Order: sequence, then structure tokens, then C-alpha cells
Amino acid sequence: MFKHFFCFLICLSFLNFSHAKEGMWIPALLKAVEGDMQTMGLQLSAEDIYAINQSSLKDAIVHFGGGCTAEVISNEGLILTNHHCGYSQIQSHSSLENDYLKDGFWAMSKEDELQNPGLTATFIVEIRDVTSKILKGIDETTPEGDRNKIIEENSKVLELAATKDNHYEAKVRAFYYGNEFYMIITETFEDVRLVGAPPSSIGKFGGDTDNWVWPRHTGDFSMFRIYSGEDGLPAAPNENNVPLKPKHSLPINLDGVEEGEFTMVYGFPGRTEQYLSSFAVDYVMNTSNPNKIEMRTASLGVIDAAMEKSDKIRIQYAAKQSRISNAWKKWKGQNFGLEKLDALNEKKAFEKEFMKRVSEKGLRSEYGEILKNLEGQYEEIFTYQIARDYFIEYVFYGPEFVRFANRFSSIVDQYEALSSEPEKFEEEIAKLKRATESHFKNYNRTVDQKIFNVLTPLYKKGVADSFEPEIFNDGLAKYRGTVQGLGQAIYNKSFFVDQERMNNLLENFNAGSVKKIKKDPAYKVMRGLFAGYYDKIRPRYGDLQNQIDVNMRKYMEGQRKLFPERPNWADANSTLRLTYGKAEGSEPVDAVVYKFYTTMDGVMNKYIPGDKEFDLPQKLVNLWEEKDYGQYADNGELRVCFTGSNHTSGGNSGSPCLNGRGELVGLNFDRSWESTMSDIRFAPELCRNIMVDIRYVLFIVDKFAGADHLIHEMNLVRNPEPKRDTFMDPTMQSLNR
Ligand code: GLU
Repeated sequence: MFKHFFCFLICLSFLNFSHAKEGMWIPALLKAVEGDMQTMGLQLSAEDIYAINQSSLKDAIVHFGGGCTAEVISNEGLILTNHHCGYSQIQSHSSLENDYLKDGFWAMSKEDELQNPGLTATFIVEIRDVTSKILKGIDETTPEGDRNKIIEENSKVLELAATKDNHYEAKVRAFYYGNEFYMIITETFEDVRLVGAPPSSIGKFGGDTDNWVWPRHTGDFSMFRIYSGEDGLPAAPNENNVPLKPKHSLPINLDGVEEGEFTMVYGFPGRTEQYLSSFAVDYVMNTSNPNKIEMRTASLGVIDAAMEKSDKIRIQYAAKQSRISNAWKKWKGQNFGLEKLDALNEKKAFEKEFMKRVSEKGLRSEYGEILKNLEGQYEEIFTYQIARDYFIEYVFYGPEFVRFANRFSSIVDQYEALSSEPEKFEEEIAKLKRATESHFKNYNRTVDQKIFNVLTPLYKKGVADSFEPEIFNDGLAKYRGTVQGLGQAIYNKSFFVDQERMNNLLENFNAGSVKKIKKDPAYKVMRGLFAGYYDKIRPRYGDLQNQIDVNMRKYMEGQRKLFPERPNWADANSTLRLTYGKAEGSEPVDAVVYKFYTTMDGVMNKYIPGDKEFDLPQKLVNLWEEKDYGQYADNGELRVCFTGSNHTSGGNSGSPCLNGRGELVGLNFDRSWESTMSDIRFAPELCRNIMVDIRYVLFIVDKFAGADHLIHEMNLVRNPEPKRDTFMDPTMQSLNR
């Protein structure tokens, strides 16, 4: 047995050596993997990547809008992220006259850069292990409710102390399901302007067909600039702000990376769930994913068709369509991968082994009941979780009148109180007028009605009657007993689907208006959905989730204790992480070998003039014909994207891919189809992240867009010793031209 286990360990370390490294490492703890990274090709120390008393790579890494990652690439606050991360900003500045989605946008001077209200850029000041301080006053016997209260109080004390005499923010975050705690101290800038974006035919080349797929040919990037007050500190958006002087800006390497070279990706992965029990994985694979995919297939059918028919709708729905389709396609890939790896049976086998080790180590009293408890809790929570999934899908990705109507809940509920305070009342009305304006800017009533008509029957089919709004159930009788009948009543008469009607209502808002809203069928649908969720779904769901959390905390502790041979890294939670591996291709399917990079020739192979996903701007075609790649070519070729064995997740969108010297070589934007399951089960031989080759980014900025003033801001470098016959542009004098 020992022999077998030993062989297993050797195989495991061999696998780890020849392929990807599983894990998303907390930057403050990099010492533990520093040696391993250096063996693979890192030429820096852990402190060069993360330090608090001197500048380090972390000072160039930005949490972009709280969801994506971006990186600083010039000493004037220029930052690089994905096209799909800047998409809603690009969309918000687009109109039929200025179709930046279609044609791209380039600010040719700083004055032309576009402000984006609400967009933030956050730097990490420090990641501090505060576990012992947070758990002070807690022991094995502390009741769960008290434990949570103590954690909350301890967190507050630490957060307040960390932000007392400065402009930082601090938040204590749980890791390892609440077994460890880190305080993340951040600095957030609020003046972040759009600098440039390629046309969607480059930035989103391949559309939904190519999304989550390798080989890939997408120039998925956009550029923004962070502005600060004159003192260099964060300041509210203001004309007088100045470009940020960053603590670190990434050098950009024009030599790229070859297969097998060390790479690391530094960013903010959103959420992974590597330690789930088989019960939860079963739910994801067999219930949640199929239900959500079915809902989104239906709404995408409506939206895609409408966007194809009208340019106005294409612009209005572009960002919404992407938000819906991105996860929709990922879930499909995730199920495909989990099934292929037999992930559910793997989990079950792991649980058996867990129980075996529990017995062997005499830890029955600590961990003996966990899996049984989880099984029971999951069994009960599923009814609520299904309803919750449908609620989220319907309310946040479904017919838009629901979210819009919800904005009116407070004026309806608090009319009496509000109307007695004229100032507050006027403020609320002004807020609703602004909400109305911005809601209808991107709204098409016919599209919304069709979405309502396809999604409501699915919602009704999926959600137990007792959780449904009354108006979807017995209340439907009033509307010919059909969803369509209710739809007609809403879309013909409601205030929430017609801008003029709503404006008139808001113009002279009084007690009568409140009465009218209460009778409005759209409002009734919204209230019914929310009441169902808050009164019937959430309370029990919350209780059960708390119980599951307690068991998962123990289960996580047990897994770390009993499986020390596994890497046991902390699941992603939108905090800064470093992941490392190398530039490499893969062999995901029998007889299929993926090369690790794609080229401009491949872009042209996919080119379909006039197609909504594979069309190209004529200028790019011309540059290809002339082979006018300048200093961005690699032995005469222009590389477009490449894959690496870096463990990434959503939120790593826009993360820098760095070589062993910490120089920017790529921009992370996706994973391959065969690795979309990696949030739950990482497979080193299959999982590949997809990056835009940084030289393709620069080529588009320089040769395609003619925005070479941006190139001049950057620090372009080459490898100290040329390793290969690099094609040099004879016109190139200095690296920055
Ligand atoms: N393309 C991915 C997304 O949009 C980003 C990175 C990833 O999940 O690998 O969510």
C-alpha cells in the first residue's frame, strides 16, 4: 500500500512538473512556492512580486470595476484590460452616430479621453494575515451565532484601525471557508477614463462561436487611464485631475515567450469551488447548470435575432447579450468537462477516502459526521436553491421591467412619509427620473415582451407553485389564464415599459400615482417575485446555507489535515492571486494537438466578410496583405493569441501574463473549452488559459489605430540575450520608435 501511495506521489509530482500548476496563490504567502517558481524559470524573488515596504509587481495590478483585472503599462496611469471588461463603458459611449462598438474608439490626446461615472480602479496596499486576531475569543465550544458576531466585531476593530489616518479602505475576508482570515487594505481611484478600444470585429472577433474556445484569434483588449488629484491621491472625477503617477508600471517585452517558458498571471480570480462535496457538484451538473442554460438559451434566441435585425438594438443590447451569453456558454463547457472527467464519481471516491483516513487517524468525533450532515442539508436546500436560481435568472437576466419596477418600491411603500418632506420627496423623484432616462436608453419593448413570453413559462415550470407570485398562478385567470395574456396587459398598459407614460406619471407624482402603480400588472409581477423570494425562499435557504457553511468549514479543515499531499490552496474569492505555469499547448482530445499560439494568418482564415462574428475591418486586411507588422512580428509572423498552463478563473479577465522577469508578454482573457470546468475540477493536462499576445495589442494600437502616442508612453524591452532569430524591423531605431 505504501509502495502504491509512494508511486502515486511520484506520478503527481511528475504531472505537476510537466504540466500546469494547480493553485491561485495569495501574494503575501509566495515564499512557499518561490523555489518552485524559480526552478520553472522565475528570475525574481517573492518580494519582487509582492512587498509592502517597497514597490513591487503588485503595485501595477488593478482591480478594474470590482470585477475584472487591469494592469498599469505607463508612468502616466495608462492601464490595459480586456475589451469585454471595458465593454459596458464602450457601449455606454456608443450611439448610431458614434458607433464605438463597431468602429472602435481612440483618444488621440488626453483631452479626448472619456469619463466613466462609477468606474473604479483599485490597488492593493497590503494583504495581512489576521486569523489569530479575528478568532480571538472563539473556541470549539463557541455557538455558531456567537462565533459570527465575534468575527464581525473583531473585523470592525481591525478595519477601523487600518484606515484611521489614511484614505485607504480595509476589509477582512474569509479564506478556506472561514478557517483563515486576511485583511485586504486597498486604495481606490474613481476617475478612470476610456482611452482606446478596437472595433468589436477585433476585440470580440469570433463572437459567441469562438468564446471559451481555442484556437482563438481575438484582440480582446481596451485601454483606460487612471486620474488622481494633483497630490497623487484618489479624487472624484474632475477636469482638473491629472494622470496617475503609479508606483510601478509593467515593462512590455517585444520578444514574447516560447513554448515551455515560465509564465505567471497576476489578478483577481472571482470564484472557484475545488473543495465542494459530491452533493453540491451533483446539483451544479445535473440541476443548476441545465436549468440556467435552458433559461438563457431562450432569452438569447430572442436577443440575438433582434440584434441582427437592427443596429439600434445591436447597440442597446450588446452589453446585456454578452452578460447573458458568456456564462451560458461557460456552463455548457463546464458540464462537458465535468462529465468527461467523471468528476462526480471522483468526488464520491474522494469522500470515501476521506472517511477512511478519518477512521485511520481516530478523528471520528471531529469529522465523522460532516459528510452525512452535508448530504442531509443539501437534500433539503435544493428545493430552495432551485427557486433561488430561477429568481436570480428571471429578475437579473430576464424581462427588464422587473428590475426597473423595483426602483419604485420605496416611493410606493414610503409615500406618506416621503411626501411630508418636500426636499426628500423631490430628490427621490429626480432619482427616478434619472433611472427612467437611463433605463429606456437601452430598452426595446418588443424584445422585452418576447423575453417575458419565453422565460415566464420556464420559470413557472421550474419553481414550485408555493414560491411563485400569485399573479403567475391563480392571478393569471384575469389575463385569459395565459402568460401571453398577462404579457399583453403589461406591455400594452404598464408604466414600466413606456418612457412617455412613465415621464408623465413622474411629472405630477401624487397619492393617485401610487395607487396606479399598485394596480400596474408589471409592478404586481415584481412585488410577487420579490415577496416570494424574501418571505418564502430566502429565510430557510439562509438557515440551511449557514449550516452548510459550518460543515464546509470543518470539511475544509479536515481535507487540509488529512490530505497534506494535495496543494490545498485557498479557493478564489475575488482577492489578488498569483498563478504560474508556462506557455504551452495541449492535447485535449485523442489525436488533437493544440499548438500554443495563433497568428494573423489564422485570423484571415476565419475571416467571413459581412458576418456578424467573423467580419474584419478592411484596414486590418490591408495590413495583413502588406505584412506590415513592424516591430511586433516574430520571425515574420504576427502572433495573435497564446495559451498557458496558468490556473485562472473569471475575474482574471484582463490580468497580465508576465515572463520570468516580470515583463508583460500577454493579456489573459479566457480559457479553452476543455478547461471551463477548472473552477470545480482543475486538470493539469487539459486546462489552458488564453491570452492575447501583447505584440498583437501593440500592433493594433500602433499600426491599425495609429495611436502611436500611446506606444511612446510605454517601456518596451527585449530579452537580454536574443534566444532566437528575431525578425527586426529595419526602421526600428529605439524600441519605442
Ligand atoms: N473569458 C472569461 C470570462 O469572461 C474570463 C477568464 C476566465 O474565466 O478564464 O469570464
